[in-house]
Amino acid sequence: MTTATTIYSARRILTMNPSNAEATHVAVRGDIILGAGTLEELAGWGDYQLDTRFADKVLMPGLVEGHSHATEGSFWRYVYCGYFNRTDPSGKTWPGLRSVDAVVERLQERNAELGEGDKPISAWGLDPIYFGDVLVSRGDLDRISTTRPIGIRHASGHIMSVNTKALELSGLLRTGINHPGVPLDEEGLPTGEMKGPDAMEMVALHVGLDRKIMAADEWGLRQFGWLCVRQGVTTAADLANPLPTEAVDMMLRVTDEADFPVRIVSLRRFQGVTPSELIERSRELREMSTDRLRLGRVKVHADGSIQGFTARIRRPGYYNGAPNGLWYATPEQLQEIYELALEHDLLVHTHTNGDEATELMLDIFERALYKFPRADHRFTLQHCQLADAAQFRRMKNLGVCVNLFSNHIYYWGEQHYAKTVGPERAERMNACATALREGVPLAIHSDAPVTPLGPFFTAWCAVNRKTPSGRILGEAERISVEDALRTITIGAAYTLKLDDELGSIETGKRADFTVLKDDPLEIGGENLKDVRIWGVVQGGRVFSAEEI
Ligand SMILES: [Zn+2]
Repeated sequence: MTTATTIYSARRILTMNPSNAEATHVAVRGDIILGAGTLEELAGWGDYQLDTRFADKVLMPGLVEGHSHATEGSFWRYVYCGYFNRTDPSGKTWPGLRSVDAVVERLQERNAELGEGDKPISAWGLDPIYFGDVLVSRGDLDRISTTRPIGIRHASGHIMSVNTKALELSGLLRTGINHPGVPLDEEGLPTGEMKGPDAMEMVALHVGLDRKIMAADEWGLRQFGWLCVRQGVTTAADLANPLPTEAVDMMLRVTDEADFPVRIVSLRRFQGVTPSELIERSRELREMSTDRLRLGRVKVHADGSIQGFTARIRRPGYYNGAPNGLWYATPEQLQEIYELALEHDLLVHTHTNGDEATELMLDIFERALYKFPRADHRFTLQHCQLADAAQFRRMKNLGVCVNLFSNHIYYWGEQHYAKTVGPERAERMNACATALREGVPLAIHSDAPVTPLGPFFTAWCAVNRKTPSGRILGEAERISVEDALRTITIGAAYTLKLDDELGSIETGKRADFTVLKDDPLEIGGENLKDVRIWGVVQGGRVFSAEEI
């Protein structure tokens, strides 16, 4: 039995296949593309059904989000406390909170809703850098409740603010704590700001934000799927999942459902295990992969976040004189992971924000590749925000890819200019143009839930480098619309080692398309974020955003 062939007509098809850049029709059989071209050319494949529903739409390869977290879906269970307006998976927009008082007020509303009892309040998206240099301390959160534990995960995901009750329940309301992630007040008690994964984990369980949330849940995973359809994403990396057995079982089941609309590439996070256990588990996971749930890749963190001053940066250090940040793993652990990964042919992505962390990783790659030479490893530095031209040249020489955090320019660019790294480094942060010029394979990302999922917005950031006040931060690092569209399709697919299957519309690849009401080349760079998305075709199945 042969599967039926459908030929879709479109206003324009941008294929990202350099040898056949544009087409008017695309033929699909099952979940595979037969080819793109004219109707006449495609008719040669035999009997077909002509589907004209996209005749006035523009098709692109399904967008690939190379760094997000499926927990974006799950976070909508908790109270959103971010500075910017944000739309949830149902389409409701939550107004941004512009002061500590506004945050306290929203949480007081939640407290009233919860009524009696000691159920924790869990919240996310806090970004105190916008409120001036204030600390959101346990004192602030005690204004909401002193009997109920409260925890807010900061937007960066690297800090958590908790109230006194949460510290008390965690056994931390005492003097004499000596931990770099637990700052103390004048009385010698924790301030309530917990920095880095270690410190966050000491309190997380008591505020309902434990490590399990990084593994998404069934409801959250489905929410994430719909968020992807709204944004035209057909493949999304889930970049730091602890992937416990029960989560993997759930993810395999949910992604296998006929109406689950996105392919998830879930990387096993290095936390709570030894390097050899991590590699062993990743090899097991690789064997469990399906088309819509790709497993067997690894994620490690080298440092923290720049705006939280937990990133490791080289001299001359932070612009405002803040002390250097935190290491999230030892060089010995990182070295061991990379050597084992090369031995077992596993793909590893590493989070570096500061340039000292990037430099450490480049040294580690160099030593590991000397011991275990491998030509096409696709090791990828994630964020890598402060890399300079010399570091991009080393990446090129070592065969390393980069996935830059273009959304940062918009969300924190002003703060980076004024406070964290100062004007010169802020203007070359997330240096897309330098990466392309030096020949480093490039992707760009949202890191959702850190910033909202939306590859066209991310591409707009890379093209314009505009901040909310309209300042252009680093004219020289802007890239063209064409380059930006490549990074959110074939570029991201390459970093995940999936460019043989995804990222372009061409013979033999997966039938993944993003269906647009506007032509991104016509609308131009300045308006790229406003491209209207109709929905997607994922693995030959049609999903309209309007039907969510
Ligand atoms: Zn991330």
